[in-house]
Amino acid sequence: MEGPSLVILKEQIKVFKGKTIRHASGVTTKIDIAALEGRRVTGFKSWGKHFLITFTNFTLRIHFLMFGSYRINEEKPSNPRLHLQFDDGFLNFYACSIVRINENLDEIYDWSADVMSDLWDPKKARRKIKKLKDVSVSDVLLNQDIFAGVGNIIKNEVLFRTRVHPDTLVGKLPPRKLTSLIEEARNYSFDFYKWKKVYQLKKHWLIYTKRKCPVCRGPVTKRYTGKNPRRSFFCENCQALFV
Ligand SMILES: [Zn+2]
Repeated sequence: MEGPSLVILKEQIKVFKGKTIRHASGVTTKIDIAALEGRRVTGFKSWGKHFLITFTNFTLRIHFLMFGSYRINEEKPSNPRLHLQFDDGFLNFYACSIVRINENLDEIYDWSADVMSDLWDPKKARRKIKKLKDVSVSDVLLNQDIFAGVGNIIKNEVLFRTRVHPDTLVGKLPPRKLTSLIEEARNYSFDFYKWKKVYQLKKHWLIYTKRKCPVCRGPVTKRYTGKNPRRSFFCENCQALFV
């Protein structure tokens, strides 16, 4: 689940903010589930792909990994990793990692690195990128210390929008291309959010999972790119490899 999806989740479950957990259960060994009973949820936050449920003195961090999911007042056939029952409804989290955080969140999270945050700082992102000259744009966009919340769909669409080949090393990008890459990482994330909310995300994909380039009608290349190899879809004709 990419960052914008967690912002949507946060909105969907805001009715539970301020509510007390009446019953908690689940299959996870990392946290003391029984200790959640009787505790009041003070809020929901997200940082990139981390979903945070806050309480007075601690936070639960949920990471949906590759196959994680959630249901609100609904069950799936599989057992939830965490089930939280409130007076007026319940939340189920599946196939995710759950960790308890005791530290103050401001000490562990750089909110300005979250592409969906009001505190997002493009200049800071640029400074971090400047230190990674030999890293490909594929890896840089997925680097959560720089672009928290950007996942593989956003990566592919941003590279297509900016017409940059995924094998380009970030140090070879002309300054203006780097500016648009950073801008589009945030812009596309907000488009993702807007479209996903109305179930129209896939409809707006220009390159991700496509076979033909929407600009030149040429074939879309599909292969793994980056040192942390992830699937890339790109047009060799429209997306420039800067060397
Ligand atoms: Zn093309």
